[in-house]
Amino acid sequence: MTLSEIKALDSAHFLGVFGERSPVCFVRGEGCTLYDQDGKAYTDLFAGIAVNALGYHHPAVTGALVAQAQTGVLHTSNLYYVAPQAELAALLCEHTFADRVFFANSGAEANEGAMKLARKYFYAQGSGRYKIVSADHSFHGRTLATVAATGHDYYQAPYRPLLPAGLSQVPYNDLDALRAAVDGETAAILLEPMQGEGGVTPADPAYLRAVRRLCDEEGILLILDEVQTGVCRTGTLYCHEQYGVTPDIMTSAKGLGCGFPIGAVLASEKVASAISVGDHGSTFGGNTLACAVSLSAMRYMIEHDFASAAREKGAYLKRALQAIQSDKVKEVRGMGLLLGIQLPSDFPAGALARRMLARGFVVGTASGNVLRIAPPLIISREEMDAFVSALAAELS
Ligand SMILES: *Cc1c(COP(=O)(O)O)cnc(C)c1O
Repeated sequence: MTLSEIKALDSAHFLGVFGERSPVCFVRGEGCTLYDQDGKAYTDLFAGIAVNALGYHHPAVTGALVAQAQTGVLHTSNLYYVAPQAELAALLCEHTFADRVFFANSGAEANEGAMKLARKYFYAQGSGRYKIVSADHSFHGRTLATVAATGHDYYQAPYRPLLPAGLSQVPYNDLDALRAAVDGETAAILLEPMQGEGGVTPADPAYLRAVRRLCDEEGILLILDEVQTGVCRTGTLYCHEQYGVTPDIMTSAKGLGCGFPIGAVLASEKVASAISVGDHGSTFGGNTLACAVSLSAMRYMIEHDFASAAREKGAYLKRALQAIQSDKVKEVRGMGLLLGIQLPSDFPAGALARRMLARGFVVGTASGNVLRIAPPLIISREEMDAFVSALAAELS
């Protein structure tokens, strides 16, 4: 099929939620390089929205996927024991604050689980706490509950009245607003340690530490959404480690499966102990194939210290981007290999991303007119240098 044939089928039959897509269909990948149908090569600096942490055709991903498929067992359901699920849960507990893990299929589903866990924690104590406070410009997913937690009118407006009750948002990095929003009915505060979709905005260290203290003082649970910031991307396995702040519940997805859909809810024993049989579940969540791929990829990234690599490569890339001589670069923000370039309001990030695509570089955008860079963590200096030169040329 040609690209125009694919476009015609898509625009005739696919639900119009993604509108006109970037004019390319990638059919093959190797390392950080994607190839379209004509064999044109693109250097990927977006990794399928911060998902493909090991790039394309990585043996730790492809090998595990093929090997598991060869057993014939892709899925057995959670009625039975699932070996890679148990091993992946153990690996995540070994390397994070968490004592227990639940697997879902996406970031939104993981956040749903996190919110249910928080409510169940208080229900089990006979407490009426149920409210969840999140932040403006946050992004937590597209299900009804995660839309209600996503502080963005664009996502919420069509679905009012929002479900469930008790979800509200306050400005990010504003401790006074958060203090004013919590009360004796607040169960949890839900935050990204660095907002991704919202514009690549890190939490102020003093803010996040004060939020943790507020939670401790008021008996509120802290849920950190690390769906985008997790899995080595920001320079530590999970971003909150750099803040010296430990959540009670954390969610992970995107990079967790390196391209295979999987999400996870991680919790401390204090919270997890409130959960009993039947409180939550999933048919597909934690399935054999998803966990086999994620286990192999996570082992590889942990063994090869991808967190340090992301920190070093990210620092190098950030400096190079900051050195671009152009009045279009207002600010370069972010941590590790999740970076945002703030552009002026009259210079749309979307159009810039299209021009970079034509030059053979895949980049993303974030709200607030930000160019978002989230490459595979295996990216080389040469690939970063080539990208920075091309971007500098485009901005000159
Ligand atoms: C992408 C994202 C989600 C939603 O994940 P899906 O897999 O699309 O459901 C939730 N939270 C954050 C911070 C994200 O970046």
